[in-house]
Amino acid sequence: MLLEGLREQVVEVGLQALARGIVHGTAGNMSIRDPESGLIAISPSGIPYPTVTAADIVIVNDRGEIVNGNRKPSSETPLHTMTMRARSDIRAIVHTHSHYSTVVSCIRPYLPPILTETCLVAGARVPVTRYGLTGTPDFGESVLEVLTPDTKAVILKNHGLICFADSFDAALGIAEIVEESARVYINALAANGGQEPDLVPEALIPEMTERFLASYGQPKTT
Ligand code: 13P
Ligand code: ZN
Repeated sequence: MLLEGLREQVVEVGLQALARGIVHGTAGNMSIRDPESGLIAISPSGIPYPTVTAADIVIVNDRGEIVNGNRKPSSETPLHTMTMRARSDIRAIVHTHSHYSTVVSCIRPYLPPILTETCLVAGARVPVTRYGLTGTPDFGESVLEVLTPDTKAVILKNHGLICFADSFDAALGIAEIVEESARVYINALAANGGQEPDLVPEALIPEMTERFLASYGQPKTT
Protein backbone atom coordinates (compact mmCIF):
# COMPACT_ATOMS: atom_id res chain seq x y z
CA MET A 1 0.00 0.00 0.00
CA LEU A 2 1.44 3.39 -1.02
CA LEU A 3 2.75 5.39 1.97
CA GLU A 4 1.42 2.84 4.45
CA GLY A 5 3.34 4.34 7.41
CA LEU A 6 1.79 7.76 6.81
CA ARG A 7 -1.67 6.24 6.33
CA GLU A 8 -1.30 4.55 9.72
CA GLN A 9 -0.29 7.86 11.29
CA VAL A 10 -3.47 9.48 9.92
CA VAL A 11 -5.60 6.68 11.44
CA GLU A 12 -3.81 7.02 14.79
CA VAL A 13 -4.05 10.82 15.02
CA GLY A 14 -7.80 10.63 14.32
CA LEU A 15 -8.26 8.20 17.22
CA GLN A 16 -6.12 10.41 19.47
CA ALA A 17 -8.09 13.53 18.56
CA LEU A 18 -11.33 11.64 19.28
CA ALA A 19 -10.01 10.40 22.64
CA ARG A 20 -8.97 13.93 23.58
CA GLY A 21 -12.45 15.26 22.78
CA ILE A 22 -11.38 17.78 20.12
CA VAL A 23 -13.28 16.04 17.32
CA HIS A 24 -16.54 14.10 17.36
CA GLY A 25 -18.41 11.89 14.90
CA THR A 26 -16.87 12.49 11.50
CA ALA A 27 -15.95 16.14 12.20
CA GLY A 28 -12.39 17.28 11.64
CA ASN A 29 -9.73 15.93 9.28
CA MET A 30 -5.99 15.28 9.22
CA SER A 31 -3.21 15.14 6.67
CA ILE A 32 0.53 14.50 6.51
CA ARG A 33 3.01 15.14 3.72
CA ASP A 34 5.71 12.74 2.54
CA PRO A 35 8.89 14.83 2.35
CA GLU A 36 10.38 12.74 -0.49
CA SER A 37 7.50 12.60 -2.97
CA GLY A 38 5.52 15.61 -1.72
CA LEU A 39 2.41 13.42 -1.72
CA ILE A 40 -0.14 13.91 1.05
CA ALA A 41 -2.00 11.24 3.05
CA ILE A 42 -5.40 12.61 4.09
CA SER A 43 -8.36 11.28 6.06
CA PRO A 44 -11.42 10.11 4.13
CA SER A 45 -14.64 12.14 4.09
CA GLY A 46 -17.44 11.26 6.45
CA ILE A 47 -16.16 8.02 7.99
CA PRO A 48 -16.34 7.76 11.82
CA TYR A 49 -12.83 7.70 13.33
CA PRO A 50 -13.07 4.30 15.10
CA THR A 51 -13.90 2.56 11.81
CA VAL A 52 -11.21 4.20 9.64
CA THR A 53 -8.40 1.85 8.54
CA ALA A 54 -5.14 2.56 6.68
CA ALA A 55 -6.81 1.41 3.44
CA ASP A 56 -9.41 4.23 3.82
CA ILE A 57 -6.74 6.95 3.83
CA VAL A 58 -6.39 8.73 0.49
CA ILE A 59 -3.12 9.79 -1.14
CA VAL A 60 -3.39 13.08 -3.04
CA ASN A 61 -0.91 15.40 -4.68
CA ASP A 62 -0.57 19.02 -3.59
CA ARG A 63 -3.30 20.02 -6.05
CA GLY A 64 -5.71 17.64 -4.32
CA GLU A 65 -5.80 15.14 -7.19
CA ILE A 66 -6.17 11.53 -6.04
CA VAL A 67 -3.01 9.49 -6.63
CA ASN A 68 -4.03 6.37 -4.73
CA GLY A 69 -6.98 5.25 -2.61
CA ASN A 70 -10.47 3.77 -2.74
CA ARG A 71 -12.26 6.47 -0.77
CA LYS A 72 -13.30 10.04 -1.35
CA PRO A 73 -10.75 12.29 0.41
CA SER A 74 -11.83 14.79 3.08
CA SER A 75 -14.15 17.50 1.81
CA GLU A 76 -11.56 19.95 3.18
CA THR A 77 -8.79 18.67 0.89
CA PRO A 78 -8.46 22.16 -0.73
CA LEU A 79 -7.92 23.68 2.74
CA HIS A 80 -5.10 21.20 3.45
CA THR A 81 -3.39 21.35 0.06
CA MET A 82 -3.63 25.14 -0.27
CA THR A 83 -2.02 25.57 3.15
CA MET A 84 0.73 23.04 2.41
CA ARG A 85 1.46 24.75 -0.91
CA ALA A 86 1.74 28.11 0.85
CA ARG A 87 4.06 26.83 3.59
CA SER A 88 6.70 24.28 2.61
CA ASP A 89 7.65 23.78 6.30
CA ILE A 90 4.23 22.35 7.20
CA ARG A 91 4.22 18.57 7.24
CA ALA A 92 1.20 17.72 9.39
CA ILE A 93 -2.22 19.35 9.65
CA VAL A 94 -4.93 18.67 12.21
CA HIS A 95 -8.36 20.30 11.80
CA THR A 96 -10.67 19.96 14.81
CA HIS A 97 -14.06 21.21 15.94
CA SER A 98 -12.76 22.11 19.43
CA HIS A 99 -15.58 23.65 21.48
CA TYR A 100 -14.03 26.72 23.12
CA SER A 101 -11.91 27.64 20.10
CA THR A 102 -15.16 27.70 18.14
CA VAL A 103 -16.78 29.92 20.79
CA VAL A 104 -13.89 32.37 20.37
CA SER A 105 -14.40 32.23 16.59
CA CYS A 106 -17.94 33.59 17.08
CA ILE A 107 -17.00 36.61 19.19
CA ARG A 108 -13.44 37.78 18.51
CA PRO A 109 -11.03 38.51 15.62
CA TYR A 110 -8.29 36.57 17.45
CA LEU A 111 -7.62 34.61 20.64
CA PRO A 112 -5.57 37.03 22.75
CA PRO A 113 -2.51 36.02 24.82
CA ILE A 114 -4.29 34.62 27.87
CA LEU A 115 -2.02 31.69 28.81
CA THR A 116 1.76 31.92 29.02
CA GLU A 117 2.17 28.37 27.72
CA THR A 118 0.12 29.08 24.60
CA CYS A 119 2.18 32.17 23.81
CA LEU A 120 5.32 30.03 23.94
CA VAL A 121 3.92 27.26 21.75
CA ALA A 122 1.59 29.05 19.33
CA GLY A 123 2.57 32.73 19.49
CA ALA A 124 0.88 35.76 21.05
CA ARG A 125 -2.37 35.75 19.09
CA VAL A 126 -4.23 32.97 17.34
CA PRO A 127 -5.99 34.63 14.38
CA VAL A 128 -9.65 34.04 13.50
CA THR A 129 -10.54 33.88 9.81
CA ARG A 130 -13.44 35.61 8.08
CA TYR A 131 -16.27 33.19 7.39
CA GLY A 132 -15.08 30.74 4.72
CA LEU A 133 -17.26 28.44 2.67
CA THR A 134 -16.64 24.93 4.02
CA GLY A 135 -15.50 22.28 1.54
CA THR A 136 -14.42 24.82 -1.09
CA PRO A 137 -11.19 26.64 -1.94
CA ASP A 138 -12.78 29.74 -0.35
CA PHE A 139 -12.25 28.06 3.06
CA GLY A 140 -8.55 27.59 2.22
CA GLU A 141 -8.39 31.19 1.01
CA SER A 142 -9.82 32.44 4.32
CA VAL A 143 -6.92 30.70 6.11
CA LEU A 144 -4.26 31.97 3.68
CA GLU A 145 -5.50 35.52 4.34
CA VAL A 146 -4.34 35.29 7.99
CA LEU A 147 -1.44 32.85 7.59
CA THR A 148 2.09 34.17 8.20
CA PRO A 149 5.37 32.20 7.93
CA ASP A 150 5.15 31.52 11.70
CA THR A 151 1.46 30.77 12.17
CA LYS A 152 0.94 27.48 14.03
CA ALA A 153 -2.81 27.64 14.53
CA VAL A 154 -5.78 29.42 12.97
CA ILE A 155 -9.32 29.56 14.39
CA LEU A 156 -11.95 29.03 11.69
CA LYS A 157 -14.91 31.37 12.01
CA ASN A 158 -18.10 29.62 13.18
CA HIS A 159 -16.38 26.31 12.50
CA GLY A 160 -13.32 25.14 14.48
CA LEU A 161 -9.55 25.12 14.59
CA ILE A 162 -6.66 24.13 12.32
CA CYS A 163 -3.09 23.50 13.48
CA PHE A 164 0.14 23.17 11.51
CA ALA A 165 3.38 21.43 12.52
CA ASP A 166 6.13 19.13 11.35
CA SER A 167 4.54 16.08 13.00
CA PHE A 168 1.10 14.94 14.11
CA ASP A 169 2.26 14.85 17.75
CA ALA A 170 3.24 18.50 17.59
CA ALA A 171 0.05 19.50 15.72
CA LEU A 172 -2.12 17.68 18.29
CA GLY A 173 -0.19 19.35 21.11
CA ILE A 174 -0.85 22.77 19.57
CA ALA A 175 -4.55 21.93 19.13
CA GLU A 176 -4.80 20.96 22.80
CA ILE A 177 -3.05 24.02 24.20
CA VAL A 178 -5.02 26.43 21.97
CA GLU A 179 -8.26 24.78 23.09
CA GLU A 180 -7.22 25.03 26.75
CA SER A 181 -6.35 28.68 26.22
CA ALA A 182 -9.71 29.35 24.58
CA ARG A 183 -11.41 27.65 27.53
CA VAL A 184 -9.56 29.79 30.07
CA TYR A 185 -10.35 32.90 28.01
CA ILE A 186 -14.09 32.21 27.79
CA ASN A 187 -14.30 31.30 31.49
CA ALA A 188 -12.25 34.36 32.46
CA LEU A 189 -14.54 36.60 30.37
CA ALA A 190 -17.59 35.10 32.11
CA ALA A 191 -16.02 35.37 35.56
CA ASN A 192 -15.14 38.97 34.80
CA GLY A 193 -18.70 39.98 33.87
CA GLY A 194 -17.91 39.96 30.13
CA GLN A 195 -15.02 42.40 30.52
CA GLU A 196 -11.68 41.60 28.87
CA PRO A 197 -9.55 39.67 31.42
CA ASP A 198 -5.91 40.43 32.22
CA LEU A 199 -3.63 39.24 29.42
CA VAL A 200 0.02 38.26 29.04
CA PRO A 201 1.91 41.50 28.20
CA GLU A 202 2.60 41.13 24.47
CA ALA A 203 5.89 43.04 24.66
CA LEU A 204 7.37 40.31 26.89
CA ILE A 205 6.49 37.40 24.62
CA PRO A 206 9.45 37.44 22.14
CA GLU A 207 12.08 37.46 24.92
CA MET A 208 10.16 34.91 26.98
CA THR A 209 9.88 32.58 23.97
CA GLU A 210 13.56 32.89 23.14
CA ARG A 211 14.53 31.97 26.71
CA PHE A 212 12.03 29.09 26.78
CA LEU A 213 13.28 27.60 23.50
CA ALA A 214 16.92 27.90 24.59
CA SER A 215 16.68 26.65 28.17
CA TYR A 216 13.45 24.80 29.01
CA GLY A 217 13.72 21.16 30.10
CA GLN A 218 16.78 18.98 30.48
CA PRO A 219 20.09 19.96 28.89
CA LYS A 220 20.34 18.72 25.31
CA THR A 221 22.74 15.79 24.98
CA THR A 222 25.01 15.74 21.97
P1 13P B 1 -14.74 15.46 6.19
O1 13P B 1 -15.36 14.27 6.89
O2 13P B 1 -15.14 15.54 4.73
O3 13P B 1 -13.25 15.51 6.40
O4 13P B 1 -15.37 16.79 6.83
C1 13P B 1 -15.32 17.04 8.22
C2 13P B 1 -15.17 18.49 8.51
O5 13P B 1 -14.72 18.84 9.58
C3 13P B 1 -15.57 19.50 7.50
O6 13P B 1 -15.10 20.76 7.86
ZN1 ZN C 1 -14.58 21.03 9.92
